[in-house]
Amino acid sequence: MFEKKYSIRLFIESDLGKDVGVVLDRPQSHYVATVMRKSEGDPVALFNGRDGEWLGDLQEVHKNHCLIHVKEMLRPQEAEPDIQLLFAPVKKIQTHLIVQKATELGVADIQPVQTARTNSERIRPEKLALQALEAAEQCERLNVPVVHGLVKLEQMLNALETDRTLVFCNERLTGNSAAEVLPGLVAQSSKWAILTGPEGGFTTEEVEMISARPNSHSISLGPRILRAETAVMASLSLLQAFCGDWK
Ligand code: SAM
Repeated sequence: MFEKKYSIRLFIESDLGKDVGVVLDRPQSHYVATVMRKSEGDPVALFNGRDGEWLGDLQEVHKNHCLIHVKEMLRPQEAEPDIQLLFAPVKKIQTHLIVQKATELGVADIQPVQTARTNSERIRPEKLALQALEAAEQCERLNVPVVHGLVKLEQMLNALETDRTLVFCNERLTGNSAAEVLPGLVAQSSKWAILTGPEGGFTTEEVEMISARPNSHSISLGPRILRAETAVMASLSLLQAFCGDWK
């Protein structure tokens, strides 16, 4: 049976390779030394989004400073599906949940979008990025999704690459179930974006603007109106199952 060789997995910025020494920053050192109570010689897994996943041993352990000796590669870097999440932020706890779950579900890029009915507190992209980083460490991804600051819906639509297939979660749609629409899109695209709306839904003008964008495909997530965070998780799961790395 597969047995994990480590109980701590950390994202770091620096390069990874055999016999490299990695110095952890203060928050990571505090986590390793004080929270997890690790000692010299204990194993730690490291990844940086470029060089794969590596196993190292703790050589020095202090609450402000830890040194890791990198020993062996556990997994090479692999390409992941190119999925962008475009979502209207909701309340703080649910927005953090969206970022955490989207990371676990394999998105590459997270873009909060301001719509007419977006009713959220101020977005703190750096806090959301930390949430994404912790989720990536926990779920054994080899990279961390990029989290952007809030942009207006129209600005986002103008900036979206034309060859990126936009999957628009439209709660007022009849027909166009995700299970019917998504399989038909697989052959035409390798770049995806999922768009979900705020608690109040999209306005009629917004629905028209989104639908008018070339390469935009509306989907229904069934007969019930889902909460915004549920819609993100359901749509990403379906996209991964039909078009992504769950196939
Ligand atoms: N207040 C809106 C209404 O009653 O029409 C509902 C908005 S819903 C809470 C938030 C977002 O989740 C929607 O804008 C949509 O993107 C997505 N969503 C929720 N249920 C959906 C469904 N059944 N099909 C497609 N998208 C859905």
